[in-house]
Amino acid sequence: MFDIIVIGCGFAGAVAARKFAEEKNKKVLLLEKRSHIAGNMYEDMDINGIYVHRYGPHIFHTNLDYVFEYLKRFSDWFSYEHRVLGRIDGQLVPIPFNFTSIEKLFSEEKADIIKKRLIEIFLDRQVISVMEIMNNSDEIIKELGQYIFEKVFINYTAKQWGIPIEQVDGSVISRVPVVLGYDDRYFQDKIQVMPKYGYTKLFEKILNHPNITIKLNCNAAKKIKIIDKNVYFDGEIYRKPIIYTGAVDDLLNYKYGELPYRSLDLVFERYDVTNFQPCAVVNYPNEEDYTRITEFKYLTGQVVNGKTTILKEYPLHYNIMAEKGNIPYYPIINERNLKRYEMYKADIERTGNIFLCGRLAEYKYYNMDAVVDRAIKIAEEVDV
Ligand SMILES: Cc1cc2nc3c(=O)[nH]c(=O)nc-3n(C[C@H](O)[C@H](O)[C@H](O)COP(=O)(O)OP(=O)(O)OC[C@H]3O[C@@H](n4cnc5c(N)ncnc54)[C@H](O)[C@@H]3O)c2cc1C
Repeated sequence: MFDIIVIGCGFAGAVAARKFAEEKNKKVLLLEKRSHIAGNMYEDMDINGIYVHRYGPHIFHTNLDYVFEYLKRFSDWFSYEHRVLGRIDGQLVPIPFNFTSIEKLFSEEKADIIKKRLIEIFLDRQVISVMEIMNNSDEIIKELGQYIFEKVFINYTAKQWGIPIEQVDGSVISRVPVVLGYDDRYFQDKIQVMPKYGYTKLFEKILNHPNITIKLNCNAAKKIKIIDKNVYFDGEIYRKPIIYTGAVDDLLNYKYGELPYRSLDLVFERYDVTNFQPCAVVNYPNEEDYTRITEFKYLTGQVVNGKTTILKEYPLHYNIMAEKGNIPYYPIINERNLKRYEMYKADIERTGNIFLCGRLAEYKYYNMDAVVDRAIKIAEEVDV
C-alpha cells in the first residue's frame, strides 16, 4: 500500500518523490503519462551518437547553493558557461548585447563613442536593461536602445508569442539585459553546470530508491476525479496526499476552459560536419521562421568528429489535438488566463489533499533550479 501518490516525473515530481521516500520513509507511487522519466529534461542518444534534449535545450544555472548541493548527490557535473550569438544584420554577435556586439555592428568610431557614453552614464554598473537605455536623455544612447529593441527584441518576441509586433508588451523589455563590457556569458548565476552523464541518468539516480514505484504510460488525470471536495482515485475515495505536477485544466476536465500555452515544433537535423555553428545556441530574431538553433554537442561536451546534430525551434500555437504543437511549453501569462488558473487552483485546494507543484501545475515559467527548490519545500511541508 502506498503512503503518497506523485504525478509527473519531471524535476518537481522526481525530487518530491525522492524526499518522501528517503527522508520520510514513505512508500511513493509515481505516475507518469509519457513513456519515459525526466519530464522536459529527457535526453537520449541519436544515430549520430550525440545526446539530444528531446524537449528543447536545458542548461542548469542557479544561485541556490543548497539546490545544487542536493542534486550533486545524484550525479557528477561539469562546468559549462552558456554562450549565445544572435544573427543581426548578417553578423553573429553576442546575446545579451555587449561591447563586442556594438563593435561588430557599428563603425569603429561610432562604437567607441557609444561605449564611452555608456560607461560615463551608467558608471560601474555591469548589466542594465534596454529600457534604461531607451529612456536615457542622451540621443546616442537612446538611438542604441531603439536599435537593440528593433533588431534583437521585437521580431523575436512577436515570433515567439505569435502576436503582431504592435501588441508586444513594452514592459517585457525592462527585463532584456545589456552587458556593459565584454562578458559574453548568457547567464550571470554563480553556478553554471551540466550533469556529466546527462539528465536522464541523473533522474534514474534520483528515482533509484526502494520506496519509489514508477508507472509509465499512465495518465493520472484519467484516474483521479474531484467531486465537491472529495478526491477519488480509480473510483475509490482517496484521502492521502497527492503531489500533482501536471496541468490543472486537464485534471479538472477543462471545466473553466483551456489554459493557453505557446508550443514549439522541434525540428532535429543532422549534418556531416564537425561543427555547424560557433557556439551552442544561435538566435535568429528577424528573417527566419525559427527562433533559434541549438547544436547539442556543445551542451553535452561530447567530441564527435565529422557529425553533428542541431535543433531548430519553430514557435506554434498550442493545440492538444494537433499533430504538431500539442505539448504545452510556455504559459501565456495575462490577467484573463491567471484568473482562470486561480479558479482551477481554488477547486483543487478545497480538496485539502492535492498539492500543486511545478511549471504546469502552477501555470508559471519556472527554471529547473526553482522547481527543485519548490519540490524540496513542498516535500518538507506536506504531512504524510
Ligand atoms: C524549451 C524550453 C527550454 C527550457 N530551458 C531551460 C533551461 O535551459 N534552464 C532551466 O533552468 N529551465 C529551462 N526550462 C524550464 C524547465 O523545462 C522546467 O523548469 C522544468 O521542466 C520543470 O519541471 P516540472 O517537473 O515542473 O515539469 P516537466 O518537466 O514538464 O514535468 C512534468 C511531467 O508531468 C507529466 N504529466 C503531466 N500530466 C500528467 C498526468 N495527467 N499524468 C501523469 N503524468 C503527467 C509530464 O508528462 C511531464 O513528464 C525550459 C523550458 C522550455 C519549455
